[in-house]
Amino acid sequence: MTQPIRLPGRRFLHSPGPTPLPDAVLHAMSVQPMDLGDPRVDANIVAVEQGLRSLLHSEQAEVFLYACNGHGVWEAVVENLAAPGQAVLIAGTGHFSESWAVQTEALGRRVVRTPWREGWPIDADALEQALRDDSAHEIRAVFVVHTDTASGVTSEPGSIRRALDAAKHPALLVADVVASLAAAPFAMDELGVDVSVGASQKGLMCPPGVGFVAVNDKAMAVAQRNPAPRFYWDWVRRKDAMSYRKFCGTPPQNLMFGLEAALQLIDREGLSAVWARHARLAGAVHAAVDGWREGGAVDFFAQQPASRSVSVTTIAVKPGTVEIETLREVARERFQVAMAGGLGPLTGRAFRIGHLGDCNPAMILGAIAGAEAALRTLGVPVGEGVQRAVKLLASE
Ligand SMILES: *Cc1c(COP(=O)(O)O)cnc(C)c1O
Repeated sequence: MTQPIRLPGRRFLHSPGPTPLPDAVLHAMSVQPMDLGDPRVDANIVAVEQGLRSLLHSEQAEVFLYACNGHGVWEAVVENLAAPGQAVLIAGTGHFSESWAVQTEALGRRVVRTPWREGWPIDADALEQALRDDSAHEIRAVFVVHTDTASGVTSEPGSIRRALDAAKHPALLVADVVASLAAAPFAMDELGVDVSVGASQKGLMCPPGVGFVAVNDKAMAVAQRNPAPRFYWDWVRRKDAMSYRKFCGTPPQNLMFGLEAALQLIDREGLSAVWARHARLAGAVHAAVDGWREGGAVDFFAQQPASRSVSVTTIAVKPGTVEIETLREVARERFQVAMAGGLGPLTGRAFRIGHLGDCNPAMILGAIAGAEAALRTLGVPVGEGVQRAVKLLASE
C-alpha cells in the first residue's frame, strides 16, 4: 500500500513496546546536553535510582542503569551472576525465556530449562523438581520472565520463590519485569526476588535505550565473588558515586530526563491506581476477544483467565483463516492501529494488542475498533468485540 503524504490524526501504537510517550516525557527530553560536572546530571540519576527502587518496592536494592535495551540487561545478569561453565535455570514461559536461554548459552554458561506448556504460566512444580534434582547445587540462579510478552501470560513470582524454598535450594531468583513493571503488581523484597531486570520502553513510557537492574545484597555478594571476566556490565565497578563511573561512560542524559519525568507521572497517579488502570483496560481488551472468539476464528492464547497479562493480549488465529502480516498491515495502513505479530513459535499463528504504559479508555477502544475493522475487512468471522468492551467500561 502506498503511503499518503500526510497521515491525518495519530497512528495508534499498540505494540507491547515501544509504547506511546506522554507529552511530559517528550518535553522533559527536550533539553540541551550538559557537561558531566553539571549537578543536574547527578540529581537526575539519583532521582531515577530512587524512583525505580520505590516502583520495585525495594528498600535497599542497588540500582544499575545502562545505555542499552532489555537484551543488554539480560547480558548484565548473566555476566555478573555466573562464570562461564556454570549453570543457571531458566523457567519456560515461551519466546522470551527461550531467547534469554539462547543468549546465556552463547555466553558460555550452561542452561537448565523447565518445559513450557503453550498458553500456560511457569510450571512451579517442574521448577521445584529441577532444583531438587540439582543436589550438588550447581545452579547459581533461577531466571524467570514475569510477563512473557510473546505469550501474553503472567506468571506468579511468589510461586517460584516457594518452589526454591521448598527445594531448599540456595540459587538466586532473578525476575525479568521488562513488560510488567508499572503495569502488574510486583514487590521485589516481599516476593524474595534477588535481582529485577527492566527497560525504559514498555510500562515506563519512555523511548527504548535505558536498561536497569536492581540488585539486593545477596546477589551483590555473588557478583563480587564471581570470577567471570567482564567490564562494561560489571556491578562491582559501577558501584561508584561518580555518574561517569555509574554508567561506565557518558550517561544517556536525555533519555534519563525522560525517565525521571515518567517516574514522576507514575508517582503522581499512584502506583495502585496505575495497576488498577492497566487491569481495567486489559479487561476491555479481554472482553473484546471474548466477543470475537464467538466467530470461531480467533481465541485467547493464554489458557487461564487469571494469568492473562494486563500488558499485552496474544490472540491466536485458527490456521488458514488469515495471514497475520496482512491483518497487521490492514490494521496499520487502513485503520491506523499498529499491532504486534506473533514471535518465535507463534510467528504466523497469533497477533498481539499491547495495552500498557500511557493508555486510556479512548485509546483502547480505538485499538479494539481498529483491530475489529481489520478482521472484518479481511472476512474473518468474529463476534461483537467493540460492543462488549464499551459495555464493560461503561459498567465500571
Ligand atoms: C521486550 C522484552 C525484552 C527485551 O527487550 P529489548 O529492549 O527488546 O531488548 C525482554 N524481556 C521481556 C519480558 C520483554 O518484554
